Amino acid sequence: MPKLTLDDLALRGKRVLVRVDFNVPLERDDGGRLRVSDDTRIRAAIPTIQAITQAGGKAILASHLGRPKGKPDPQLSLSPVGEHLETLIGQRVRFVSNTTGEGVLKTIRNMPEGSILLLENTRFCSEERNNDADFAARLAQLADVFVNDAFGTAHRAHASTQGVAHLVGQAAMGYLLQREITYLSQVLETPELPFVAVLGGAKVSDKIGVITHLLDKVDTVLLGGAMSYTFLKALGHAVGDSRVEEDRLDEARATYEQAQGKIVLPHDHIAADAFDNDAAHRTVAGAIPDGTMGLDIGPDTIKAYREKVLAARTVVWNGPMGVFEMPNFARGTVAMAEALVEATTRGAMTIVGGGDSVAALTQAGYADAVSHVSTGGGAMLEFLEGQTLPAIAALTDKT
Ligand code: AMP
Repeated sequence: MPKLTLDDLALRGKRVLVRVDFNVPLERDDGGRLRVSDDTRIRAAIPTIQAITQAGGKAILASHLGRPKGKPDPQLSLSPVGEHLETLIGQRVRFVSNTTGEGVLKTIRNMPEGSILLLENTRFCSEERNNDADFAARLAQLADVFVNDAFGTAHRAHASTQGVAHLVGQAAMGYLLQREITYLSQVLETPELPFVAVLGGAKVSDKIGVITHLLDKVDTVLLGGAMSYTFLKALGHAVGDSRVEEDRLDEARATYEQAQGKIVLPHDHIAADAFDNDAAHRTVAGAIPDGTMGLDIGPDTIKAYREKVLAARTVVWNGPMGVFEMPNFARGTVAMAEALVEATTRGAMTIVGGGDSVAALTQAGYADAVSHVSTGGGAMLEFLEGQTLPAIAALTDKT
């Protein structure tokens, strides 16, 4: 059932509680003050915030930041984020050091229409992650309507993502969330073929649900990263000391067989003597010798994967092809980023998600050169697994 979107709401004079994803990295400046070191997520929320203020609504922003263990932690205050937003948006951003309560209600009452308030970190209250009904009700008291624009936490049923949505008059998707759902739904429902999924990273366990759900939709699944060694070992190949999830071998073998040739595994590797950027390393085709570990896909695999990506009309990528944090083992991941960019210029729809793949894409300077960069790693994977994301399910159905 389609959900209400921001454009469906009458906003003038309304108190609009907006769940944003301001979970951004902070660093100390020379004066020892905490400041935002990467504002991508803050910028991404601006269209939704401005639509509310320009329509004469009061935008009340709620977000979590980090993992503060359910109590206030000055290192994880959203106050520096409010200051940063103020400079980006060119408008005063009020900040309150609470999330709910009488003081917050009073501030909201006294705010003019079209103004912005940022609440303190929702995870300073343990009730947030427990999806506590009273806490959700206190959040709902602040608002006439609710807008969720935080895809990154949409797979979590927390008070500010899911609980509160049931307790306000209307609960709608913000523009960012709407964009995510539009792209990812298209991939699941009407992908242009050929459709290639590129999956990497450390753990088979994180991605196996995605592989299974995509099998009848994709033409090819290209696997890389440590997870490919679990598959290779499961199929009887020598993987030396490569990282393997021993308890997933049976599942990997079964998935590979079920895929009937759609899963493609690396056939050459960069094998290193140790898990260290400076370790001796070499390209090996086939078996990885004992005493060495595969830390990246090899040049022939890069070439083969690149050709598949360039021939595709739809590409989804989640997870690095190797230990991309170490420059000597980043080539496969960077090559995938480049292949996706080229596929985009040839007219393919390309979607990248997951913190590491997005970081690799950004480091290579290509963040704007693919069709869509997802703001959710876990949420994107759960969506692609075909799961219902609780924070989206809780929004009001369009009638
Ligand atoms: P994930 O969180 O599952 O997406 O995994 C990302 C992590 O997997 C990154 O920190 C990579 O360094 C790591 N990784 C990728 N390939 C390998 C590999 N061949 N061996 C060990 N770690 C890897």
